Amino acid sequence: MKIGILGGGQLARMIALAGYPLAQNFIILDPGADAGAVPLGEHLHGAYDDMKLVAELAKKADVVTYEFENVPAKVAEFLSDHTHIYPPARALEVAQDRLTEKNFFHQLEIPTAPFAPVDSLEDLQQAMTEIGYPAILKSRRLGYDGKGQVVLKSAEQLPFAWASMQGAASIVEGFVPFQREVSIIAVRSPSGATAFYPLSENRHSGGILRVAECREDDPLQASAEDFATRLLEALNYVGVITLELFDMNGQLLANEFAPRVHNSGHWTIEGAETSQFENHLRAILDLPLGSTRARGHTAMVNFIGGVPDSEQVLKIPNAHLHLYDKAARKGRKVAHATIRSDDIEQFRQSLQQLIVLAEASDDS
Ligand code: AMP
Repeated sequence: MKIGILGGGQLARMIALAGYPLAQNFIILDPGADAGAVPLGEHLHGAYDDMKLVAELAKKADVVTYEFENVPAKVAEFLSDHTHIYPPARALEVAQDRLTEKNFFHQLEIPTAPFAPVDSLEDLQQAMTEIGYPAILKSRRLGYDGKGQVVLKSAEQLPFAWASMQGAASIVEGFVPFQREVSIIAVRSPSGATAFYPLSENRHSGGILRVAECREDDPLQASAEDFATRLLEALNYVGVITLELFDMNGQLLANEFAPRVHNSGHWTIEGAETSQFENHLRAILDLPLGSTRARGHTAMVNFIGGVPDSEQVLKIPNAHLHLYDKAARKGRKVAHATIRSDDIEQFRQSLQQLIVLAEASDDS
């Protein structure tokens, strides 16, 4: 089969790497000549909304998937009409707009922080009388890794905060005083079969994910699976989905979902029986899903802005290095390492060593 991927970054690269043992071929649409996934397939070199290239992709690929949620609506629509696109275009439509997404969670009775749409300073001032401080103002579209967001601490700040959004349609949310951030990665095949990975506990700094640790037997697993199931069914979903959640006093509140494989699931490469990338492919190819069981204690550490010397990483017991073949740039994810071990002490030690290396090479 030939699988089309919109986007040729590290997620596409890891999807393609998981596809090779299954004898899959890839065709990748990306504007970058040296994008990380380009060596792994045929490259359609151009913009994501170059409809000539999108038509070529639809013609050559048996099925198309994507590594980012900001796929232009007309592209998703074209691909839905001319080939199979998984996850379905409806998932993109919901995930692309924070307001649509939060309303969707509410329809499905998945709890969230209080929120309100904001299209003017007056809207913001009015909403804040109900939501209360602190809160977060976010652009509805095109935000990632905490970009396009302002924390609101007092009423005096509102005019400046609204001005910084430059008129972009926005949403304001109550600030959740969470104890933990977690995500659940789930997968669904066209027949409706589903599988769920153990929760991932995620540590961010500066809005960017730093460490994701698998939490087998987490007390909130069942609740997270319940919420993910509602999403999968409502969207008639096919592929991997990631639901990001706040744990506030043992209650889960949904933050957002990503209709794709996710950075918080990279530990599944060595740390789960079947990786999120392989299961995504199995789902979109309508093959049986693989076990999502964790293989011992496992976690992932991101390398941001710079990569430590490979030898330093690889000499850490049970560490596996994944380089994205990307130029280092401030705040850019350029690699990660996973760790897995049956021995909890060994796991803790190795994880700590990796975190020290990541902090030393991090420029953000
Ligand atoms: P997002 O782009 O929505 O994923 O937000 C990036 C990060 O900002 C999250 O991972 C949280 O650490 C933080 N954050 C976002 N929304 C909220 C909220 N309503 N309350 C507290 N922290 C938040």
